[in-house]
Amino acid sequence: MADRKIQTMLVIGGGIVGVCNALALQRAGYRVSLIDRGTPGRETSYGNAGVLSESSVAVLNGPGLLKALPKLLLGRSNGLRYSPLFVMKRLGWMLRFLAHCTPRHWRAAARALRELQVLSLAQHKDWIAEAGVQDLLRHGGWMKVFRSEASFAGYAAELALCDEVGVRYTVFDREQLRQVEPGLKPIYEKAVLFDDTCGVSNPAALTDAYLALFTAAGGTVVEGSVAGLRQIGNAQGVGWAATLAGDGESTLEGDGVVLAAGAWTAEIAGWLGYDLPLGWERGYHLHLVPADGPQLKRAVNDMDGGFVIAPMQQGVRITSGVELTDRDAPPDDAQIRASVAMAREAHDMKAEIETEPWMGRRPTMVDSLPVIGPAPRHRGLWFNFGHQHVGLSMAPGSALAITAMVDGTAPPLDTTPFRAERFSV
Ligand SMILES: Cc1cc2nc3c(=O)[nH]c(=O)nc-3n(C[C@H](O)[C@H](O)[C@H](O)COP(=O)(O)OP(=O)(O)OC[C@H]3O[C@@H](n4cnc5c(N)ncnc54)[C@H](O)[C@@H]3O)c2cc1C
Repeated sequence: MADRKIQTMLVIGGGIVGVCNALALQRAGYRVSLIDRGTPGRETSYGNAGVLSESSVAVLNGPGLLKALPKLLLGRSNGLRYSPLFVMKRLGWMLRFLAHCTPRHWRAAARALRELQVLSLAQHKDWIAEAGVQDLLRHGGWMKVFRSEASFAGYAAELALCDEVGVRYTVFDREQLRQVEPGLKPIYEKAVLFDDTCGVSNPAALTDAYLALFTAAGGTVVEGSVAGLRQIGNAQGVGWAATLAGDGESTLEGDGVVLAAGAWTAEIAGWLGYDLPLGWERGYHLHLVPADGPQLKRAVNDMDGGFVIAPMQQGVRITSGVELTDRDAPPDDAQIRASVAMAREAHDMKAEIETEPWMGRRPTMVDSLPVIGPAPRHRGLWFNFGHQHVGLSMAPGSALAITAMVDGTAPPLDTTPFRAERFSV
């Protein structure tokens, strides 16, 4: 440990990002307390499509978004639903998001995400083996499918970006797809299989498995909602105190702290004077009972329908695209119901398992890159959040990067694109 003064760490937020961060810090020799207001891994990290991606390099705010904007705003895409009132309320954030739709940003973001995803997938595989949960890991890629030649043609720029950063993929036509993925009905003209991408059949079980590694090695998990965070003087010089909400307010202390509270991180950082341009993209899922025919071998993304069909331990999981509305507005199941109806056109499934859909909040910065690094104005405070659509995929690499920074050693990747200082915070 280069910085001997830091021995104990608090990690705030027990989603996949916080859990990986707690585990990586512990592996580096720190005594770590992980704080979550509920059971770890039960917010956004619970209900995703389970894709462990090394190929999700094209951020949403690329040049193609501007072209697609009229159709999106007219509500003609199931992949995006939005509340006009919310968009008006957050207009500044929306405009900053759109301002990043440049070829330069798109390509720079792809390089940064690729490096983080490749590092993360390798670490996932090691931790999965160590945790003895190889049964959760699915090789065989992840697939995007297109209902027409025209929509496939519209994907050419993303494939060129994949070529540029070294993502491997295979393109299939209708007949080849029938053989590769016989569980799909013949409604697709083209498919792209990202050969090296993996997946898990139960994201919550993955978080639980990593948490079990952490607690078995002496890590502490604290259930409590952090309601205050302040710097204190302690035996090491400077430390941190996190106050938990509730009767008789308890306080936890550490030499350093990592903020990894997903879509809630900006609020906590705001108490310390940081103004982070963090938004959220809500998303839903529903499980259906598998039918008796062939099952899908991997998660499949219907690019025209804007949904994913992912085979899971709980059933066939349909996940929706993006809903832009208040973070805590009541769920609206219209988008996921439409997604399920379209998914039935593609894959045979029986009844829905739950009556109410699950809903999560993808934490997204205006440039679609996570923030991974030290807080600019506070010693011993690190940010690790904003992993948008690929937080399950990128959590381990982000954890290794933060751990190296806490340690004072060279991070295992170029962290410049992820610095908080890229914004005036
Ligand atoms: C429909 C959908 C599909 C997706 N599919 C994929 C996919 O296939 N692959 C992929 O890589 N990613 C996917 N994602 C994205 C991924 O799920 C997220 O990027 C990731 O879960 C974010 O993890 P997190 O740990 O940052 O946040 P979260 O999982 O939301 O965790 C944040 C935690 O912070 C805690 N917290 C908040 N405030 C406080 C507080 N004050 N005190 C204490 N604790 C607090 C919360 O309780 C929560 O547990 C998908 C997302 C959605 C919605």
